[in-house]
Amino acid sequence: MRSKKEVIKLSRFEIVTIEELLKRLEKYSYRQLHIHHTWKPDHSNFNGKNHIQLQEGMYIYHTKTNKWQDIAQHVTLMPDGTFVTGRNFSKDPVSIQGWNTGAFAVEMLGNFDIGCDKLEGKQKESLIKLARYFAERFGPESIKFHNEGPGVKKTCPGSLLDKKEFMKEVLAMGKVFKDVEDGRWSAKYIEAAKNLDLISGNTDGTFHPTSPLTREQAAVLMVRLYEKITGRKVVEE
Ligand SMILES: [Zn+2]
Repeated sequence: MRSKKEVIKLSRFEIVTIEELLKRLEKYSYRQLHIHHTWKPDHSNFNGKNHIQLQEGMYIYHTKTNKWQDIAQHVTLMPDGTFVTGRNFSKDPVSIQGWNTGAFAVEMLGNFDIGCDKLEGKQKESLIKLARYFAERFGPESIKFHNEGPGVKKTCPGSLLDKKEFMKEVLAMGKVFKDVEDGRWSAKYIEAAKNLDLISGNTDGTFHPTSPLTREQAAVLMVRLYEKITGRKVVEE
C-alpha cells in the first residue's frame, strides 16, 4: 500500500494553502473569479484525508463522462480550507458559458443549497481571502457567482449564499474599522493613527469617522502623541 505522501506525489494534483495559492496567482492576470459549489461530492464525502482522491474522481467524471479535455476547474476548495489544484492556471476553465475567457474557476466542495452543507470555518475563510485578492487586483466586479451567468438556471454556488452579503464580507476583510470606506479621503490617516496606537476606535469595530472629538478624547490623543514623540510614558494605562 502506498503512503499518503506518495499518492500526492504521483497525482497530477497538489494540495495548497490559501497563502501558496495567492503566491502562484501573482504570475497570472484574470478578468474574473468564478465561484461554484461541487453539489456532489459534498461535505459528507470528505474525510479530512481524501483531497486528492476526490479531485481525481472529478477529473475522471469531467474527462470520461463529460468528454472534456481536462478537469473543469482550476482549484477545488476543501472543507478544511486547503485547495487542490486542477486545470492548468494558464488555460481557460469550463466554468460559466460565455464568460470563460480569462476566468479563474474555483469549485467549493459541498452542496450549499439551503438545508444542506454550511459554508463556514476555514473553508469560508479561504474563499473570502481568495475573493478579496481578486477584488483588490481586478475590482469587486470581477467576482462572479455561477448563477449570475447569462441564462444560468442553476443555484450554483448554492441558494444559501447571498452575493450581496458575501461581497460585504469580502470588502470588509482586513479593514481597520468596518465603518471607514476604503475610498474615503481620510482612510489612510485613520489606518495610520490606529497602527501608531494613537486611536483605538470602539469595541464593536467601528470608528464613527464623522463624529466630533470630545475634550476628554482630545486629552488622551494629545498625551499619546506626546508619549510617542518623546518616548516618555506619562500615564500608566
Ligand atoms: Zn457552478
